[in-house]
Amino acid sequence: MSDLKVLSVASEIFPLVKTGGLGDVVGALPRALQAEAIDMRVLVPGYPAVMAKLGAAETVLDFDDLFGGSVRVLAARFEGLSLFVVEAPHLYDRPGGPYQSALGRDWPDNAERFAALGWVARAFGSGAISAWRPAIVHAHDWQAALAPTYLALTGQNRPATVITIHNVAFQGQFPAAMLSRLRLPESAFAADGVEYYGAIGFLKAGLFYADAITTVSPTYAREIQTPESGMGLDGLLRHRADRLIGIVNGIDEAIWDPASDLHLAARYGRRRLGPRRHNRVALQQRFGLDHHPGPLFAVISRLTWQKGMDLLLEALPGLIAGGGQLVLLGAGDATLEAAFADAARGHAGRVGCDFGYDEPLAHLIQGGADALLMPSRFEPCGLTQLYGLRYGAVPIVARVGGLADTIIDANDAALADRVATGFQFAPVHVDALTDAIARAQTAFHNRAAWRAMQRRGMSRKLGWSARAPAYAALYRRLIAEGDRPKNRAEGDRPKNRAEGDRPKNRAEGDRPKNRAGDSI
Ligand code: ADP
Repeated sequence: MSDLKVLSVASEIFPLVKTGGLGDVVGALPRALQAEAIDMRVLVPGYPAVMAKLGAAETVLDFDDLFGGSVRVLAARFEGLSLFVVEAPHLYDRPGGPYQSALGRDWPDNAERFAALGWVARAFGSGAISAWRPAIVHAHDWQAALAPTYLALTGQNRPATVITIHNVAFQGQFPAAMLSRLRLPESAFAADGVEYYGAIGFLKAGLFYADAITTVSPTYAREIQTPESGMGLDGLLRHRADRLIGIVNGIDEAIWDPASDLHLAARYGRRRLGPRRHNRVALQQRFGLDHHPGPLFAVISRLTWQKGMDLLLEALPGLIAGGGQLVLLGAGDATLEAAFADAARGHAGRVGCDFGYDEPLAHLIQGGADALLMPSRFEPCGLTQLYGLRYGAVPIVARVGGLADTIIDANDAALADRVATGFQFAPVHVDALTDAIARAQTAFHNRAAWRAMQRRGMSRKLGWSARAPAYAALYRRLIAEGDRPKNRAEGDRPKNRAEGDRPKNRAEGDRPKNRAGDSI
């Protein structure tokens, strides 16, 4: 039996281009699925960072005119990944990030840039390459969401489609006037279609048309069906609840392995934690901190409202007064960066910040910090806390989304049962965060118990091999369902949205438009 062919469609893929967890997941899934007899290939835009690293490539498809220029699709391999790269200089060949210019502005042609990705996926799904016709097209986030949309609108004999929501805050909304420009039929501009609050909603469309929806943790799958967390899409998600599942992300255990990590000053393992202290010292040196014995807390994060960084600023005096130190690696919101820079000046020797995007430093922090702080207001899955578990940097997390699903709070019962792996707090408020930091500070001084907690985290099964079977089962279930309907069945319609049911919770820095961030 030949392997099941799955085309993964995404706007980033580690190690070629990554702004957050999305890139990690897209890069890790193909390898993990090999063991499940799934041949996953990934369709990605040909940004300069991607084109520069491609070796030998073969043209497998071309388009004379796709949104203003000619396009070639290249098949290439990179570090074990099978890629299809959309080479479209008019859309992707420019300096800056994948979604924004170096000045942090969304690219004005993002609608066309990511519609092109969906259109090419449609061609694959329609059998444009006879040698490799996918049985499943799996789209990630709004940037790829027109793939299931175009396929559903194209008609019969199409592959089954899946869309994964990595963060419902990023939705991709564009003016209704772009409908024909985006090659969408008039008839699709409806509540049962691509229309979203009077505009074209890429993510909305994908959620409406895809045969199955996944998101990256069971708790987040529930949260996004509520008005508080659904950011305007909760009604549709409730309506499609029978098609929505949450699968926690895995981590790449080869890239994130403290026993072999060359970014560390010293390598170590669960049974040999001793050398870890060299990383702690290296970290203190790197951030210009005193060689202080108290707990060294760390943040590795986009600096946004979502990540609760403003709450951490408020809790910082307590953290310092309790004998702690803080290192922060993060980029994002300029106001937050300025506030943390101030804090580092105000607490010289105790607080250090680096406002870049630095993959090696992220590893060193995981390998040297005592505790990792994630006071997120919402967190679909979160990978950083999983790396923290693997590296013995004890996570202190808000009880939301994937953080609730992956960390076991060190309450009395969990400690007695020897299952605690970190600290959770709720509600997401400065008082609860302060309390969790204080609990960690107390726990840190019981060295034996702290080490036991580190070891427990380090022994958790966090790799993709534990997760891949859930994706494989979903794909096989969809195939077993048989022929795809031309359009979504009658009766499978979302109810009309009530007036006033507009996207809410759109704080600065987390606007449901385009994913902001820095590229590597
Ligand atoms: P999100 O995808 O919301 O940003 P995750 O926790 O799922 O959050 O994934 C974040 C990923 O990005 C992790 O791999 C983390 O190590 C990395 N990361 C975040 N900020 C930085 C940074 N400034 N430098 C290096 N890596 C970072």
